[in-house]
Amino acid sequence: MRLMAVHAHPDDESSRGAATLAKYAAEGHEVLVVTATGGERGDVLNPAMDLPGVHENLSHVRRAEMALAAKTLGVEHHWLGFTDSGLHLDPGMVPRDGFARVPLAESVARLVEVIEHFRPQVMITYNECGGYPHPDHIRCHQMAVAAYEACTSVAKLYYLHEVVRITPAMVRFAGRAERLVSRIPRRNSGATTPADPRLGDVAVPGWVRASGVLTRRVRGRRATTHIACGDYYRVRDRALRAHASQVDPNGPFFLVPWTWRQHLWPTEKFELARSRVAATAPETDLFAGL
Ligand SMILES: [Zn+2]
Repeated sequence: MRLMAVHAHPDDESSRGAATLAKYAAEGHEVLVVTATGGERGDVLNPAMDLPGVHENLSHVRRAEMALAAKTLGVEHHWLGFTDSGLHLDPGMVPRDGFARVPLAESVARLVEVIEHFRPQVMITYNECGGYPHPDHIRCHQMAVAAYEACTSVAKLYYLHEVVRITPAMVRFAGRAERLVSRIPRRNSGATTPADPRLGDVAVPGWVRASGVLTRRVRGRRATTHIACGDYYRVRDRALRAHASQVDPNGPFFLVPWTWRQHLWPTEKFELARSRVAATAPETDLFAGL
């Protein structure tokens, strides 16, 4: 069988649903990760990697990290070739060349081409809120759903399950807040003009991010499919560490040892969003019914 996971940035595949990908690959299925953007507008999030040359060559660095992560998970990988939009909650602040601004028909056509070549039975992507409100994640959802609809050879489409879900209304609210804050001259910096939307590194103020966290609601209602993949948590951690510029090995991802996680959270959860075959929840296999 063939399984395709559609993600926005390099490292998303290793932080979400990675143990499931590693498990299916180890069991002999073909697994392909498709990454929409190069993650060019990410920050260097690991202090140990905040070195001269890393920022300047982030695109190159992230390509090498992605290759290592794919190898670690045992999956194939394909770049769709779009440019990271940067984290903007207000769509108007997304840079012109950002993936979130590429006409949907264009990105869908590119993904459909990959689907027609790989012919997956099952696809995985984010729900309509993107998992977290990065415009590239939301666009990735729109692209993957439209591509699924266009490709009748794909039997099932899953969303990564969100225990904590952010609604579109919350994203719009936070976007308005970001736009307002961008018009306030910054103290101490000497800047008196609004942030230039073409700049990808416009920082989202801390309080906007915090308001997003505060306005989250627990809505864990839609998990249909539980994949027992605890044996692959160690692989998942190794894949995540492969994204060295993005992942601090001393950071929160690794606070709970993987051996504990096997007992505490032995499954990764998915939501069956669309299906062309008969399927009944709860499921324990993404290929159930095929
Ligand atoms: Zn991402």
